[in-house]
Amino acid sequence: NTQIIFSKVPTGYPVIGEDITVKKTEFDLDAPLNDGEFIVKNLVLSVDPYMRGRMRDASVKSYSPPFDMNQPMTGHTMRLVIKSKSSLYPEQSYVYGLGAFEEYTKLNDQVAKAYGLVVRNDPKTNGIPLSNYVGVLGMPGMTAYAGLYKIGEIKKGETIYVSAASGAVGQLAGQIAKAQGLRVVGSAGSDEKVAHLKEIGFDGAFNYKTEDTDAKLTELCPNGIDVYFENVGGKMLEIVLTHLNTFGRIIACGMISQYNLTKAEKVGNLMNIVAKRIKFQGFIVSDYADLEPQFLADVTQMILDKKIKYRKDPEAFLDVLHGRNFGKQVVDVATP
Ligand code: NDP
Repeated sequence: NTQIIFSKVPTGYPVIGEDITVKKTEFDLDAPLNDGEFIVKNLVLSVDPYMRGRMRDASVKSYSPPFDMNQPMTGHTMRLVIKSKSSLYPEQSYVYGLGAFEEYTKLNDQVAKAYGLVVRNDPKTNGIPLSNYVGVLGMPGMTAYAGLYKIGEIKKGETIYVSAASGAVGQLAGQIAKAQGLRVVGSAGSDEKVAHLKEIGFDGAFNYKTEDTDAKLTELCPNGIDVYFENVGGKMLEIVLTHLNTFGRIIACGMISQYNLTKAEKVGNLMNIVAKRIKFQGFIVSDYADLEPQFLADVTQMILDKKIKYRKDPEAFLDVLHGRNFGKQVVDVATP
């Protein structure tokens, strides 16, 4: 059983082979199961920026729990039940939810329910690739959906600006906003990503690494910004604050530019929040579990109607943190 282990708290960017290591252990696939037990085989692992925050010392408090030292890292997965004595998770069903990054895991009903694992067999009939179930139809997709509808109060005719727009959350946020009739502008860190944003329907897009963000926002958002989908933080936020309209909203989803800094950057222009009566609200996707059925129904239909294009990128965690990923990062581990 190959496992991906959290071995050391990183300083700055994590180092493979030191902070994250690979371990081989024995796993007896033929051992008898008790009632309520089942074995899952990992098919797809989701690699997400928040995992960097979980690679911390257990004494530091944050919104998601730290990884257990010398244990497999955990994250969102699509897994196949290959043996089962559970009526909730029968053999040959796909299971979505948090799980250990290892080839095989033995679970029981109680643990699986506590982790919120759900059977998700729709890909067997709708033809949507399994990897989408940890991306556009998984936690990142749900983040985009909840952010727009629960925090952003988006309205037709408004302008939304999305940072880290070509990523797992950003590309869906932009496309949903477009479908709702907003003017959608995004930024990303390479010309290839920017070209992709235009292809998937963004009205304007720019490379924040090579172009002047302030000047591009003036050009591409002539009526100002009504909603900012904030994925980046730091200097980007400081500039956007001067472009937001009165009663603008900031969907404070993440601040990836800060995750690997040993000291957080200072952000100026905060007085704009008061003067322009800006709503600046953070959220964590798990706050909105009740929205999930509606999200799944809506976004599945949008995919089937080809209203959403979603790029996935089969690389891994460090690429997400360095900005080398282009699309939702997933690791395809096995085929069913
Ligand atoms: P992505 O797939 O977008 O990957 C991260 C991207 O961020 C990189 O590809 C890179 O793209 C960009 N990036 C990396 N470093 C920097 C930097 N220093 N400055 C600017 N951009 C940078 O990630 P997700 O879509 O999964 O996540 C987007 C954001 O949403 C993150 O901040 C994440 O923490 C947050 N999030 C929040 C959740 C919540 O519940 N609140 C849930 C899920 C995600 P580029 O080339 O454009 O720089």
